[in-house]
Amino acid sequence: MLELQLGPMTIHPVILFDKDSWTLVDTGMPGSAPAILELAKQAGIGELPLRSIVLTHQDIDHIGGLPGILAAAGGQTDVLAHPGDEGAINGTQPMLKMTAERLAGFLEQVPADVREQFERTFLNPPGPNVDRTLADGETLPCGGGLTVIHTPGHTPGHVSLYHAPSKTLIAGDAMIAKNGELTGPNPAATPNMGQALESLKKFVGFDIARAVCYHGGLVQGGVNENIARVAKQV
Ligand SMILES: [Zn+2]
Repeated sequence: MLELQLGPMTIHPVILFDKDSWTLVDTGMPGSAPAILELAKQAGIGELPLRSIVLTHQDIDHIGGLPGILAAAGGQTDVLAHPGDEGAINGTQPMLKMTAERLAGFLEQVPADVREQFERTFLNPPGPNVDRTLADGETLPCGGGLTVIHTPGHTPGHVSLYHAPSKTLIAGDAMIAKNGELTGPNPAATPNMGQALESLKKFVGFDIARAVCYHGGLVQGGVNENIARVAKQV
């Protein structure tokens, strides 16, 4: 789990690696790429190639760093996302929570080259950004196996990921963590809260020793009980 400070916000992309390659889950804001790549190096990926990037969903704090990371990785990286968010990530559908004004506000804060790179990738792409779509229940061959759990509500194509070898749930934005406790997603940023809470029931069948929330970081100890409690409030 990476810990990246972005102004007042701390975000937590995740890295999985084995002896051949590494995988990145979520990419931060526009301009986050250099910091994420530096943290990846510190985490021990060495000279391994970046084989895949899994985007848990379309929101700007998850896809913003994608162009910079792809440019640095040099062409052998597959981008994976759920079909429900594929159109927004490919620039063929509007981003669900992003008006033109709001996007302009974000891009105003970054250097011109980052802005241009972002616009080239997401507003006017020469081709699709998503190389392969994710299916609920499939297990990706990353870091010993990473199972996709479709958890719509925060966005239609939101996915969480379960890493069985370490019993780790990568929740994305399906839940947030506060003071070591898990709660449902942020209501202000979750257009379909009922569906989002319903999605949490899908976690109940997994043996989870620790959960990583993109916002709030690591929670361990009593995670299954914590999730069951939150899911019961539905
Ligand atoms: Zn987020």
